[in-house]
Amino acid sequence: MVVAVTGVEVAMPTRYTLQVGARLHVEAQQDGDGPDGYPVWRFMNHGCEPNVVLRGRTFVAMRFVPAGEELTFDYDSTEWDMASPFRCHCSSPFCRGTIRGYRHLSVVARQQLKQVAPHLLGLA
Ligand SMILES: [Zn+2]
Repeated sequence: MVVAVTGVEVAMPTRYTLQVGARLHVEAQQDGDGPDGYPVWRFMNHGCEPNVVLRGRTFVAMRFVPAGEELTFDYDSTEWDMASPFRCHCSSPFCRGTIRGYRHLSVVARQQLKQVAPHLLGLA
């Protein structure tokens, strides 16, 4: 276990929410132990070759993560349709370029994800 996802549940995504259910998102509150009092997960960047993955309400390491290495997760593996799509510059050879959410991935791109949150699999 690396980082717990804390916050309030909201129905609509914003650029600062994390999707945890088919129609459920978590919004960070300023009661955490990260910068500005927000929980650490709010600051975790996307990576097309991530080192952590969401399991329920917890981020867990997918491999050994050395001290000082930035924690990243694949936003396309948790978000259905992102409120704020963006151009990725993660420098991975597997970089998908534009990150918009699982909804926008091709069948092949979906199959190439290392892990997909179960809440996305039931959505069409
Ligand atoms: Zn990328």
